[in-house]
Amino acid sequence: MATTSPLHVLVSGGGIAGNAVALQLLRNGIRTTVVERAAAPRPGGQAVDLRGPSKVAAERMGLLEGIAKYQLDERGMSYVDGDGEIYARMAMEDFDGAGIVADIEITRGDLNQVLLDALAAADTGLLDYRYGERIDRITQDEAGVDVTFASGGTERFDLVIGADGVHSATRALVFGPEEEFSTNLGAYGAFFTMPSPAGIEPGWFGMRMIPGAMLGIRPDADPATSKAIMTIRATPDPALRRDPAAQRALIRRTFAEAGWRAPEVLAALDTTPDFYFDEVARVDVPELSAGRVTLIGDAGYCGSPLTGMGTAMAIVGAYVLAAEIAATPADLTGAQRRYQEVISPFLDKAKEIPGGSLALMLPNSRAMTALAKLNVRIMMSRPMRPITKKIYFGHTDDFSLPNY
Ligand SMILES: Cc1cc2nc3c(=O)[nH]c(=O)nc-3n(C[C@H](O)[C@H](O)[C@H](O)COP(=O)(O)OP(=O)(O)OC[C@H]3O[C@@H](n4cnc5c(N)ncnc54)[C@H](O)[C@@H]3O)c2cc1C
Repeated sequence: MATTSPLHVLVSGGGIAGNAVALQLLRNGIRTTVVERAAAPRPGGQAVDLRGPSKVAAERMGLLEGIAKYQLDERGMSYVDGDGEIYARMAMEDFDGAGIVADIEITRGDLNQVLLDALAAADTGLLDYRYGERIDRITQDEAGVDVTFASGGTERFDLVIGADGVHSATRALVFGPEEEFSTNLGAYGAFFTMPSPAGIEPGWFGMRMIPGAMLGIRPDADPATSKAIMTIRATPDPALRRDPAAQRALIRRTFAEAGWRAPEVLAALDTTPDFYFDEVARVDVPELSAGRVTLIGDAGYCGSPLTGMGTAMAIVGAYVLAAEIAATPADLTGAQRRYQEVISPFLDKAKEIPGGSLALMLPNSRAMTALAKLNVRIMMSRPMRPITKKIYFGHTDDFSLPNY
């Protein structure tokens, strides 16, 4: 085992952020332990896109070749009425690969697999990856962090990175309760895999807007399946959190009369292998580090799935944090401070909801929904495309990612 750094870092969470930061730490010769609560890599998730700074980070991390193997055949997006009639269309090339559908589209599960493959390839004995494990307790002093695991046993680390998602346990243990940092924006989101409806246009992301909700069907890596994606405006209800039956009931009620492909989507609800449901929440943690514990990804910053930027922020955050740690392993406080300084301007932009707010994106009334549809038509019309691209999709392009 060739250790080039005396550091030992613990990463909590084996999602995109956790695996990306672990990869970059390993490549810098830093001993890394990852604990992932799930018993195996978590599949699922719809297409995530890499654009602007996150594409640059993925390229510098050498991930593009792996990503290319899973690249989705996604050609654009169509807005449809209840009878399936298309009223607006956004082809990928109309926006030079920088519209809703970017030139790099990969499902979240596949991107996670690319990272896991890269981790296996980069491991020279410095990686300790534990599934079915989580942190129970954290105590820290000036020289290190003592972590007690759920399976028992306490170990000491130089740094703990919380990459355990929007409901981060690391954040709750060290920074404070979830309510302090997370704001439910008044909606719920769900994603799951379903059989591709017969006759659906291959490669096109179909989207149906109804008052207070939207329903999308997105291409999957396997043409036989598609990804259902939905957002539903609703008053926050804590009882929904751990009640998949109530979550499914909400979806059924909302889309019962939606027409288009809603019946096929609802029919798949009970048999899908990867039903994912969560509140549409924004996470803001003003100071991303507390002593020797630092947050990355959704645990520390999340603009909600409506921004489409969660994975981009996770990749950029992981790239910057690992590089700063590697730059000054003897000065972790300095590395943590620079991480925050470097990514803050990017996060401020990336957390913005395209169009300004959920109310504008997903109006509740029939009249406002009709107006939103008109707005979509205008946005996608040829003369408006450069403006749409700049306002909705290019808002993080000005951020210049340091080349470490
Ligand atoms: C299964 C799944 C499907 C998703 N699908 C979509 C999608 O379709 N569209 C979308 O916009 N976003 C989706 N997301 C969220 C998206 O992945 C993130 O917004 C983004 O990639 C940032 O990633 P992250 O690593 O910070 O968080 P996440 O991807 O949420 O990863 C966090 C990881 O930490 C693990 N974890 C949680 N708690 C603990 C704990 N106490 N101890 C150890 N490990 C823990 C989780 O199991 C998970 O693997 C999904 C997330 C998951 C987990």
